[in-house]
Amino acid sequence: MMTNQTAVHYQITPSNPQAHIFEIFCHIAQADPAGQIVSLPAWLPGSYMIRDFAKNIVRISAQADGHELAINKIDKQTWQCAATDKPITISYEVYAWDLSVRTAHLDTTHGFFNGSSVFLSVAGKEKQPCSVEIQPPAGADYKDWRIATTLGRQSAALYEFGAYQANDYEELIDHPVEMGTFQLATFEVAGIPHDIVLTGQHRADMPRLCADLTKICTSHVNMFGELPKMERYMFLTMVVGNGYGGLEHRASTSLLCSRTNLPLENDPEISDEYCNFLGLCSHEYFHTWNVKRIKPEPFLPYQLQTETYTRQLWAFEGITSYYDELGLVRSGVIPAQRYLELLGQTATRVWRMPGRFKQSVADSSFDAWTKFYKQDENAPNAIVSYYTKGALIALALDLTLRHHSNNEKSLDDLMRQLWQDYGKPGNGVPEGQIEQLASDIAGKDLKEFFQRYLYNTEDLPLSDLMQDLGIEFKLRPAADMADKGGKDSKDQKSVTTLGARFSANDSGASISHIFDNSPAQLAGLAAGDIIIAVDQLKVDNQNIEKVIASYPPDSKVTITPSAGMSYMTAKQHSKKQKKIPVYLQSTPRQTNNKLKIVSNGYQNKCRVG
Ligand code: ZN
Repeated sequence: MMTNQTAVHYQITPSNPQAHIFEIFCHIAQADPAGQIVSLPAWLPGSYMIRDFAKNIVRISAQADGHELAINKIDKQTWQCAATDKPITISYEVYAWDLSVRTAHLDTTHGFFNGSSVFLSVAGKEKQPCSVEIQPPAGADYKDWRIATTLGRQSAALYEFGAYQANDYEELIDHPVEMGTFQLATFEVAGIPHDIVLTGQHRADMPRLCADLTKICTSHVNMFGELPKMERYMFLTMVVGNGYGGLEHRASTSLLCSRTNLPLENDPEISDEYCNFLGLCSHEYFHTWNVKRIKPEPFLPYQLQTETYTRQLWAFEGITSYYDELGLVRSGVIPAQRYLELLGQTATRVWRMPGRFKQSVADSSFDAWTKFYKQDENAPNAIVSYYTKGALIALALDLTLRHHSNNEKSLDDLMRQLWQDYGKPGNGVPEGQIEQLASDIAGKDLKEFFQRYLYNTEDLPLSDLMQDLGIEFKLRPAADMADKGGKDSKDQKSVTTLGARFSANDSGASISHIFDNSPAQLAGLAAGDIIIAVDQLKVDNQNIEKVIASYPPDSKVTITPSAGMSYMTAKQHSKKQKKIPVYLQSTPRQTNNKLKIVSNGYQNKCRVG
């Protein structure tokens, strides 16, 4: 293999696309003579869950001075080489078959990897420059493959295989790499080229995509006053039949979207799905400042071997979620009324969850590792999202700052100050500091605001805060469980419900979630139970809500579960009455209501920009 001047040099090859295998060499010029330790991260920044990437290493060996060198595994993600004073080369293979933005994926059509899945971290050399030779798969079938990555180019030409480099390990793993025959378009923001890279089959209107993204990115750059220093930015997008997600990086983002998320030619409308995709791009781009550079203090540096705790994710994900949609209206991509509908939908998601009274947003952030990222059937009753309620805290904070400053100051001032004081110079933001800065900007102690809405579980006073702007914040009953909110409805009637969510099942309607104090819960039903009939008539997940809604409130219906409820043995079940009486309720106002924000003189009284 080719060696290099850097302390650590890697070579990565998609050696067997059919078997989804990357082959990697890691060359260490001056290894620790006591026995070099190497490891893979347990998690990657931006996704707060232990993922144990090392489990995908399927073969590993080491060589020194032309001979095999013993390499011993010492924990789930760490190896130690035998002591030697010679340079070491570690050779290993990584299985890459996860079509997500978080790990690695390889087949005969394309390859993608995050460095945290493929590059071993070399103990003692994490802060030193490293280089990587990225090679194409062998064979004529792959002669058209190119690369899209913002990793620093050493001798490789733009979009070409070859030599790349990074100043340290953290930088190395913060530039994901896409390879294959992707489609590519380039636009410029703040004088810096931005690429939209699309892998997978699609018929997207690329000029339209570039035009809309240019507006959105420019709006964020204008708000912060500058784009952080970089040579290029990339939206690395995997287009699939059904998928959605994104992960932020310092000069790029990895996105996963459905074909239906992309705009088609000659369609001037912004569909809900395209609007979602633009919101996702806006979100990840805003992270270029907020969390990639303005970071919670515990993330400096990242400790990727184990969980890292912070109560501040509301500020890094919630504020970012607030600005992702705000960016769409500020840039003129969507009109104000459409923005208010999106805001109404965010509020609806929060107001629907009984868990918002059990967990504070600060605790949701702290426990992200085990609760938000590991949601189960009880999640709606147990947790609150630091994304959605965090976005509402950001909205309420923005309105509060405007209120106390006669509309002279806003959340923009707070974000700019965070950028200047913390992001740009590379200082971590201590816990509590954002609250302090907000109070300074407001010219008023906002401790009570944060106590109530961030550290406790109170609902945000959006109705009061919006009054200033001539915007009505209105709660109304949900039409059904699929009602997203955001729009008014003439029909203000409460709907009769079981208080459960359903998924498809061959036998009937399978219960996926049951809300606290719902008729379903009171009747003893549980997640996993399958309802086959209501009052002797067959139901499925498509029609059960309509069937239940046809009964007046307080009526009694008889539910027939499929034989053997989830928690019972067959013997128990035969003894128990097979039909379950359920007393229906109309949707309780506090938990199931839908929320709408009615625009009323909005244009005159409030500047969204
Ligand atoms: Zn985010």
